[in-house]
Amino acid sequence: MSALLQVSGLFAGYGQVEVLHDLTLEVPTGSVVAIIGPNGAGKTTLLKALAGLLPARGQMALDGMPLAGLSVEARLSHGVSLVPETRELFGDMSVADNLALGGFRHRRDRAGLARDLQAAFARFPRLAERRAQYASSLSGGERQMLALARAMMSRPRLLLLDEPSLGLAPLIVRQVLEDVAGLREQGISVLLVEQNARAALKIADLAYVLEGGRITASGPADTVAQSPRVMESYLG
Ligand code: ATP
Repeated sequence: MSALLQVSGLFAGYGQVEVLHDLTLEVPTGSVVAIIGPNGAGKTTLLKALAGLLPARGQMALDGMPLAGLSVEARLSHGVSLVPETRELFGDMSVADNLALGGFRHRRDRAGLARDLQAAFARFPRLAERRAQYASSLSGGERQMLALARAMMSRPRLLLLDEPSLGLAPLIVRQVLEDVAGLREQGISVLLVEQNARAALKIADLAYVLEGGRITASGPADTVAQSPRVMESYLG
C-alpha cells in the first residue's frame, strides 16, 4: 500500500514550547491509523499541525504533495479534514444545514452535494429522522455522527479524527467506531486519535504510541495491542 500521508521529522508546539519532537509516521491509502497515548502526549497537537492550525517544521506530504505552508482552507480543499474534539457544530442550525455547510464551503457542484446529502442520510438514518432538528438538541452520539457526516460532505481523502468516542456510552462508542471503520470502503483514510485504546486498536490497521511528544512504538494494530507494555499502560 502506498502512503496517502507521509510525515517525517515533524516538530510542532505552542510558541517557545515544543510539544512534538521529530515524529515520523504514515497513513497508507485506504487505512485507519490509530494514535494512542496518555493525556498531554501531543495527540491533538499532531492533528492540529497536520490540519494547518499550528506552525510546524518538518515534512508532511499528501500523496507526495507537500502540505507545509498551505493554509487550513487549502489543505481542506486538497482533502485534509479535521473533526476536532469539540465537534464545532452550529448548534442553532438544523442537522441538514450543518451537513450542507460541510460541503458548500468547498464545493460548487450542487447536484453532487445533493447526492452526498442523501448518502449521508442513508448512512446515518438517525440524522435523517432529525434533519430539521437543531444540532444543539442532539445527543452526544448523534452529534458525533453529525460531525463525521459533515466532514464527509467535503469529500475528504484524509480524515483527522480527535477523540470521536469522547463522552459517549460504550454501546455508542462501538457504533461510532464502526462508522469510522466503514469510511475505508469509501476510499477515505483516517488518522484516529483515541483515549479509548482498546476500541481504537480493534478497528485500526496500524497504530502509533505517542508518549511525551515522541513515537515510542508502532506497527500493525493487532501487534501493538499485544505488546506487554501497551497492554499494561493502555489496555489494563
Ligand atoms: P489529551 O489526551 O489529554 O487530549 P493530547 O495527547 O491530545 O492530550 P495535546 O492536547 O496535544 O495532548 O497537548 C500536548 C501538550 O501541549 C500538553 O502539555 C499541553 O499542555 C500543551 N498544550 C496544548 N495546547 C496548548 C496551547 N494552546 N498552548 C500551550 N500549550 C498547549
